[in-house]
Amino acid sequence: MAITFHGVRGSTPCDDPSIARYGGNTSCVSVAAPGEEPLLFDLGTGLRYFGAAQPVDRAFRGNCLLTHLHWDHLQGVPFFAPLLCEGARLDVYAPPHGDETVADLFHRTFTPPLFPVELASLPGEVAFHDVGDDEFRIGGFQVTSRLVPHVGPTCGYRVEWAGRSVTYLSDHQQPRDGSFAVAPGALDLCEGVDVLIHDAQYTPAEFARKRDWGHSMIEYAVWLGVTAGVRTLVLFHHDPSHDDDMIDALSASAAACARHSGVEVVAAREGLVLGVEG
Ligand SMILES: [Zn+2]
Ligand SMILES: [Zn+2]
Repeated sequence: MAITFHGVRGSTPCDDPSIARYGGNTSCVSVAAPGEEPLLFDLGTGLRYFGAAQPVDRAFRGNCLLTHLHWDHLQGVPFFAPLLCEGARLDVYAPPHGDETVADLFHRTFTPPLFPVELASLPGEVAFHDVGDDEFRIGGFQVTSRLVPHVGPTCGYRVEWAGRSVTYLSDHQQPRDGSFAVAPGALDLCEGVDVLIHDAQYTPAEFARKRDWGHSMIEYAVWLGVTAGVRTLVLFHHDPSHDDDMIDALSASAAACARHSGVEVVAAREGLVLGVEG
């Protein structure tokens, strides 16, 4: 199984020479495994680059585990070039919001005057599946979805394939009082996983000002990785104000904290490919 990072930034796309190494595109990660259709986590602006790398000699078929419907996780959809081909199909799994299905919410978002083209008028098809606390299969991938604390209905996902595993918790609210505890559903997703991709948006000072904005401190991500016994922790959903040098320093300090427990810590950057071996 290979995990590729196409967009790693939280909240809003950004661009500046000072963030060139980690990148400014928002959340999009792909998982590839032999014989399987591509599996995506989220559809942020990084999706455009994943789309540009897809083969053009056949219609795209793939699946997305979408955490939630905030802009930074959706904005790549209208620029996903494979949907411009007849016969292409993207299946999207996501939590509904109240009485509105994921399909209703998407069609309401991608329509004039918010976007010039209706989603339904694209040549390719986007199909939607509502999920919550569920277990299901996508091809050979075994998927566990759990509703996790954020702002509004939000899922985290664990994907297992041939004895290898990856968990994606891009937007995860840690306890607002700054303590370290985890909801049972989120812990289910993380326990013993090979790779945990986790919200690492804030320093302690930032969290103190934004404690109910739906995110976690880097220290919390490390605590969760160590508590859950993960093999590799990937710091993800970097705050737009964190430049490359700051992410270098934060991830080095997180790696030093986790070293005694044997957890490897890396910071997600655009273009990073992680192989997950058995
Ligand atoms: Zn986000
Ligand atoms: Zn969010």
